[in-house]
Amino acid sequence: MTFEAVERYVAPAQLRQALAVLSQPGGATVLAGGTDLMPQAQAGRLQAAGTLLNIRRIAELQALTLDADGTLVLGALVTLTRLRRDPLVRAHAPLLADAAEHFASEQIRNAATLGGNLCNASPAGDTLTPLLALNAEVELARLADDGAVGTRRLPIVGFFTGPGRTQRAADELVLAVRVPAAEPGAVSRFHKAGTRPALDISPISIAFAAARDAAGALGGVRIALGAVAPTPMRAHRAEALLEGRRLDAGSAAAAAAAAAEECRPIDDVRASAWYRRELVRNLLQRMLDDVAEV
Ligand SMILES: Cc1cc2nc3c(=O)[nH]c(=O)nc-3n(C[C@H](O)[C@H](O)[C@H](O)COP(=O)(O)OP(=O)(O)OC[C@H]3O[C@@H](n4cnc5c(N)ncnc54)[C@H](O)[C@@H]3O)c2cc1C
Repeated sequence: MTFEAVERYVAPAQLRQALAVLSQPGGATVLAGGTDLMPQAQAGRLQAAGTLLNIRRIAELQALTLDADGTLVLGALVTLTRLRRDPLVRAHAPLLADAAEHFASEQIRNAATLGGNLCNASPAGDTLTPLLALNAEVELARLADDGAVGTRRLPIVGFFTGPGRTQRAADELVLAVRVPAAEPGAVSRFHKAGTRPALDISPISIAFAAARDAAGALGGVRIALGAVAPTPMRAHRAEALLEGRRLDAGSAAAAAAAAAEECRPIDDVRASAWYRRELVRNLLQRMLDDVAEV
């Protein structure tokens, strides 16, 4: 199916109006930057609803603020270009800015949104591993029975339920992503493998975040892996091997081996499962060695 199934196009400026459209029988297909939707429609892979809902005029979805408690609030319509350049993101979530740096081309980054990347839910989505490593929350909105805007927050862990699937209900919009304040001593790294990392769909990506205390011991270790399972995943066994320890050659090698073992890659046109595991082991080891040196 393509956009030919679309009978109605709406572009409300108010969040409530958009949620009212989504709550109608048959719902609506949400359009943000269109960089996933358009190619999917052209390829005949889009199950479009009868109504196309353009959300780009809704001002509150553009928010990019720092709360009093240090939480970085990123509206669903924040583009990859803003993630890459905004001083608040660079200061408080450099991992996300780094991932945006390796994302597609300038033209795509100008249109592509954070909310779209989340809702497309590709196992290789480049903002997903940083958000997992940063322990982000997803904020969703729907129209309540009394006509008010109701919201709920979900931890990003568990938000993705399969390729292209999330816990978002059909009548909900992603409002924002909330990234908690970084701990003192925070360290992070992002790596996307590939010969042309920005333009290829990556065979794997890795995001690492932790805090290092005065003695050099790591705490709050989170390692997220992309494109090696049906959803982006945390490498919990590898994390446990690093928690409370100083990084050295031994602990880095053990964690890298554990991550390679616990990921669940498949063979596909981009890479074999064996090669993906080797990439996880080698790239994670290299990232951890790099952190140890600084
Ligand atoms: C040439 C090219 C290169 C690309 N390179 C990369 C890359 O390097 N890394 C990468 O991760 N991706 C890449 N992509 C994929 C795409 O650009 C991203 O996934 C992008 O973030 C999608 O955002 P969008 O605003 O364009 O989403 P859209 O296409 O508008 O929407 C995507 C999906 O999300 C839904 N949606 C969007 N916003 C909301 C919301 N707020 N609430 C509820 N549902 C919503 C839509 O209904 C749709 O199902 C590439 C795409 C192209 C065409």
